[in-house]
Amino acid sequence: MEAPTTPEESARAVAEGFTRLYGSAPEGVWAAPGRVNLIGEYTDFNDGFVMPLALPHTAVAAVSRRTDGRLRVHSADSGEGVVTLDAAGLRPEDGAGGWAAYPAGVVWALREAGHHAVTGGADVHLASTVPTGAGLSSSAALEIVVALALNDLHGLGLSRPELARLGQRAENAFVGVPCGVMDQTASACAAEGHLLHLDTRDLSLRQVPFDLAAQGLALLVVDTRVKHALGDGAYAERRAGCEAGARALGVRALRDVGYARLPEALDRLENPTVRAYVRHVVSDNERVRRTMALLDAGDARAVGPVLTEGHVSLRDDLRVSAPELDLVVEAANAAGALGARMTGGGFGGSAVVLVESGDAEAVTKAVEDAFAAAGHTAPRVFPAIPSAGARRVS
Ligand code: ADP
Ligand code: MG
Repeated sequence: MEAPTTPEESARAVAEGFTRLYGSAPEGVWAAPGRVNLIGEYTDFNDGFVMPLALPHTAVAAVSRRTDGRLRVHSADSGEGVVTLDAAGLRPEDGAGGWAAYPAGVVWALREAGHHAVTGGADVHLASTVPTGAGLSSSAALEIVVALALNDLHGLGLSRPELARLGQRAENAFVGVPCGVMDQTASACAAEGHLLHLDTRDLSLRQVPFDLAAQGLALLVVDTRVKHALGDGAYAERRAGCEAGARALGVRALRDVGYARLPEALDRLENPTVRAYVRHVVSDNERVRRTMALLDAGDARAVGPVLTEGHVSLRDDLRVSAPELDLVVEAANAAGALGARMTGGGFGGSAVVLVESGDAEAVTKAVEDAFAAAGHTAPRVFPAIPSAGARRVS
């Protein structure tokens, strides 16, 4: 298991990198975490419920304002040089391209929201410990760290949920990825030691205490390190299927189909694919509700089977799993895990596994052995420690 460098440790290195690159010290350094979703998958575009936690892995950015309109961005991780853009002239259709679209998209979204101060430009240098493309929201970490830095430097006074929505807007409209608002909200609003329960209809938040260690438990993240091309377009297809289901049922969104009415709703749907999608979304909203009730009752152990049930639903009804994710769940549960499921968009990426603390090592080894036996690349396994949301570090 690997432990990430703390934001405070990387802040110094990032500030030094900034000074070397741009010739003067940054005005400040900010950090924003990646996230892992415990439960509630493909529910966020159905006005449903999600329950992510922020990881100790963070994007750290050193930022200074400019006044000449130039936006200069650099990532220590990208292998590219400094990308220079015109802050006032950014347009989604120009496709800033590559990773720079994420910070540029945030500047564009702030400008579009009327915060013209950002058109003065900025210098940004960043580095991140969030694995990219692993379903752990390295993209949202990037958006939120830049949004928070500009919010602080320009005194824009935006709230955390507002910053999350701006980050989502940047990703949807500027980068061109049709994601929901969960990732950015988790990165912007999470609290240490807590899960974040988010109602994606009214965006109301609840911090749910999540002290697994006190109950002798641990949550592991298993990054399978694969991403199947099959996933391209799958999100849009699932989304369209869910919208078709809501239309056929005469509701605004699938969130409005109560779990008690699920059998009756399914009877009314003729298309078997739409029926399966509806069954997943409505039952996963119910699993979020059950998970929260179990945690409120101090019974985190009982969340395990709920996770596995969620995996089966994602695998069989929504069909967004992958052989590697199924193998994690199967091997972990066979080795005594309390439950496990894929997390994030699927087709690869990561899984979460709930274990008795004392079983963490054996379960990790069982998953690693199963991957080796199947000829897969070794997975990356680390504990999901519920960490703080975005913040200024120096
Ligand atoms: P995820 O958010 O699950 O990690 P995405 O595909 O949404 O996956 O976002 C990954 C993209 O975010 C990368 O391809 C890259 O463009 C950008 N990104 C993330 N972290 C960094 C980084 N440290 N430096 C440069 N770009 C990054
Ligand atoms: Mg992402």
